[in-house]
Amino acid sequence: MSLLSGLEALGLGNLESAKLYEEEKDEAALKKEVVVEEEPEKSETEKEAEFLFGKTYTCPICDSTFKTKTVRAGKAKMLGSDPDLRPRYEGIDVLKYDTVVCPGCGYSALSRYYKFMTSVQARFIKEGICMNYRPHSYDGDIYTYDEALERYKLVLANAVVKRAKPSEKAYICLKTGWLLRGMLENLEMDRSYVKKKLTYTREEEEFLRSAYDGFLTARSTEPFPMCGMDEATIDYLLAALAIRFNDYEVAGRLISELISSKTVNSRTKEKTRLLKEELEKEMKQSKKQNQ
Ligand SMILES: [Zn+2]
Repeated sequence: MSLLSGLEALGLGNLESAKLYEEEKDEAALKKEVVVEEEPEKSETEKEAEFLFGKTYTCPICDSTFKTKTVRAGKAKMLGSDPDLRPRYEGIDVLKYDTVVCPGCGYSALSRYYKFMTSVQARFIKEGICMNYRPHSYDGDIYTYDEALERYKLVLANAVVKRAKPSEKAYICLKTGWLLRGMLENLEMDRSYVKKKLTYTREEEEFLRSAYDGFLTARSTEPFPMCGMDEATIDYLLAALAIRFNDYEVAGRLISELISSKTVNSRTKEKTRLLKEELEKEMKQSKKQNQ
């Protein structure tokens, strides 16, 4: 017998078989579900911020102490790299976080170069950067692409002013070119899409061209390792850039040197063979176009 039997006469016969406690159970389950739903989905910015921490630097020019957003070591998973060695990570473009900018005086450099300068270079920076710099800080949870690009340009301006070696300037240009490629991959389809795409494509080309020229000069004038890269890595990089800028003779020479070298490791050789295929394809195409 059901507790609610006899209600049929009142028009509530459909409730006769209703169970006494089921509703409460359902409600509890519902509440649980609601709680789960209420937990807000993390935004892209929040997800990116989880990879970061504030690394403390002391400015060698003005002595002020400040924090710079830095990617936690080992936190981001590397997905691979482009043929010209640009690294790609899951969930974050680490290239956005390789610059150090003093918010007080404007002295800026790539993180690996920040501490080091000669006294003459310090004077150049004081005169060429700090005297005109308007204090600015980057206070968001992450650096936007626009901010990251601005920081790279500040780093390059500092390198020019302090008369940095060609390798350092080339490395800044290379990373800026890579950053611009990231910007292109993440462009929003809004009204400024076409204009931005044209601008960033042109800028990527200009920065990589400058990186190529700078590393070619550095290779014949500076010792290895260079910017943390050994000779084989620099040669591989130059070969990749040479193909991009149709400098087939240089590319061909570097590629055959790498492949026939006794000291280059097998992984670099394997990647170089892929470049060789790319070079042969490009040369065939350009021959066709010239016919
Ligand atoms: Zn400073």
